[in-house]
Amino acid sequence: MTEPVCTHLNEAKDVSPSGNGCVECLAMGARWVHLRLCMTCGHVGCCDSSPNKHATAHYHTEDHPLVQSYEPGEDWWWCYKDEVAFEVAGAPKFSHT
Ligand SMILES: [Zn+2]
Ligand SMILES: [Zn+2]
Ligand SMILES: [Zn+2]
Repeated sequence: MTEPVCTHLNEAKDVSPSGNGCVECLAMGARWVHLRLCMTCGHVGCCDSSPNKHATAHYHTEDHPLVQSYEPGEDWWWCYKDEVAFEVAGAPKFSHT
């Protein structure tokens, strides 16, 4: 119960989301399925169900391990390094409009 699920929470910052859609998909005119928000820099990227998987690509290029769901009504976080989903009590919640 008390085991820390993720050891990277110190990499979560006070972010401002980059926008209401995946940064790269908007630039290339592509579509996405769901959105993920990088909790280190605020980059909005598309999920692994999307054709271009830009949220995961962002992790590989920037080494920012933490994302939060950017979908309305979803508050879960995901750590790419620990490969674990969890929730953070009291953390700000984000979603696209
Ligand atoms: Zn972690
Ligand atoms: Zn994308
Ligand atoms: Zn980032």
